[in-house]
Amino acid sequence: MANNRNIVWHEPSITIDSRWKSNGYKSSVLWFTGLSASGKSTIAHALDECLHENGIHSYVLDGDNVRHGLNKDLDLSPASRKENIRRIGEVSKLFVDAGLLVLAAFIAPYREDRRQIRALLDKGQFIEVFVKCSVDECERRDPKGLYNKARKGQLKEFTGISAPYEIPENPEIILETDKFNKDECVKQILDYFVDNKYISTSTVNQKI
Ligand code: ADP
Repeated sequence: MANNRNIVWHEPSITIDSRWKSNGYKSSVLWFTGLSASGKSTIAHALDECLHENGIHSYVLDGDNVRHGLNKDLDLSPASRKENIRRIGEVSKLFVDAGLLVLAAFIAPYREDRRQIRALLDKGQFIEVFVKCSVDECERRDPKGLYNKARKGQLKEFTGISAPYEIPENPEIILETDKFNKDECVKQILDYFVDNKYISTSTVNQKI
């Protein structure tokens, strides 16, 4: 238990600033939120590939993958969904401390859950990316056949169909995946990194 007086925080000897300096970029969490099939995973993995090829350390945390391991004990009840997001937030925070750019692709339909993760991190370490796409277009894409199942009533509480999605109020980035293709969306994020000094121009010139 964290409130046990025998558990004492050990201050790390390598600070995050010194990691940022030696890496040449700032670690942070890019939280991709949006409807199922809006393009969160597709863009997160494309960006990961681009960063990896250029020596920038990133890692994708993907909803389904996390449920295979860390969160395989959690079901889809409201309490478990909350715990799912809380654990991902804590893992993201550790990865940011380790100097990684975390690309977290989760529907996270509730503003309050996203706000809690933002609150866990220092200012500038949480970049909310709203992957914006109409329900009609997501349903047309339906790469996993989930909308089809939801329409037939085989999936209960499906976000966008029978469960709410709370649109981000002030996301740092909005990607309109029904207007721009994958590469254009990746470029939009890279521009954000440079404009907001997550990646320096010299790192970009050397690496991207
Ligand atoms: P999510 O992770 O949000 O559930 P996925 O990335 O699994 O969504 O699926 C998105 C689908 O939409 C993929 O089949 C992808 O090829 C397609 N798609 C079409 N246009 C785009 C775009 N601009 N960005 C991302 N995905 C797109």
